[in-house]
Amino acid sequence: MKCAKCGGSATIYNKAGVPVCSRHTNEKITSPKCPECSSPMSLRESKYGKFWGCTAFPMCDGIQKI
Ligand SMILES: [Zn+2]
Ligand SMILES: [Zn+2]
Repeated sequence: MKCAKCGGSATIYNKAGVPVCSRHTNEKITSPKCPECSSPMSLRESKYGKFWGCTAFPMCDGIQKI
């Protein structure tokens, strides 16, 4: 997997669920807020690619493109 910050080889996922290399593990990645209910969003992956999904899913099905 690739680091979302620099494109290098990522080793872990940060709190937001984004793959990053060791150089960025301490950085905060701000996840967007759900446009439907203002809950924080987490990174999801589907066969169509990655997207932000509402953490209140399945109560809320708000999504946002990356
Ligand atoms: Zn990196
Ligand atoms: Zn929501």
